Amino acid sequence: MTGNSGAAGRPELLADHLDAVERRLQAACQAANRSRTELTLVAVSKTWPAADVAALARLGVGNFGENRDQEAAPKARALSELNLVWHFVGRLQANKCRSVATYADVVQSLDRARVVASLSAGAVRAGRDLDVLIQVSLDGDTRRGGVEPNGVPALAETISAAACLRLRGVMAVAPMGVEPARAFDTLAQVASSLQVQAPAASWISAGMSGDLEAAVAAGATHVRVGTALFGGRTPLGG
Ligand SMILES: *Cc1c(COP(=O)(O)O)cnc(C)c1O
Repeated sequence: MTGNSGAAGRPELLADHLDAVERRLQAACQAANRSRTELTLVAVSKTWPAADVAALARLGVGNFGENRDQEAAPKARALSELNLVWHFVGRLQANKCRSVATYADVVQSLDRARVVASLSAGAVRAGRDLDVLIQVSLDGDTRRGGVEPNGVPALAETISAAACLRLRGVMAVAPMGVEPARAFDTLAQVASSLQVQAPAASWISAGMSGDLEAAVAAGATHVRVGTALFGGRTPLGG
């Protein structure tokens, strides 16, 4: 954790950061002629302790994102009485699906059929319905996760046929070296094609600390914000 040796403690710092992020979201919504109520802030709490999540929850944040099962599972369990909405946003391995399905409410990073089957089996086993998003790769480099846009219809079909999974939309990370506005416009096109096929799939998860304004302008319904809320992650913390 970063040393914050000022007079204010960690909860006060988080409150300041949340105010700043809210001001950015309000301004972005205003500029795009959208209502702040159309937008869900997902606080990406990876590498930060459960106490930070609890502090933001006391300030009214209800949605949190994590990218590693080993870290997310105990955090979600420790805070289960807060009734938070947990989003899994990381690379999903088949052998982690059983665990993820026990605490995640939303899985934003589905990108291949093999994992759909594992996640569905996990959800059935846990007796829970999961909202899922298809992660889309916007630069053809699928090593960092995501299916290429032309693979979305088939994957959507597979998800729609899977028990206990509800297809809610798409997610993407703006690729390095591509203007976020262009990347998010492409994602918006993928999203509207998907919605023809799957009308309930209306969510667009796009935008992080550095590019949330561009995402809001392009129609994002969910922004995933880590650094701007919690501070910089250590190199080892990912
Ligand atoms: C870490 C992470 C974020 C948050 O990124 P920041 O730049 O810290 O806001 C958003 N989405 C995904 C998939 C992440 O892994």
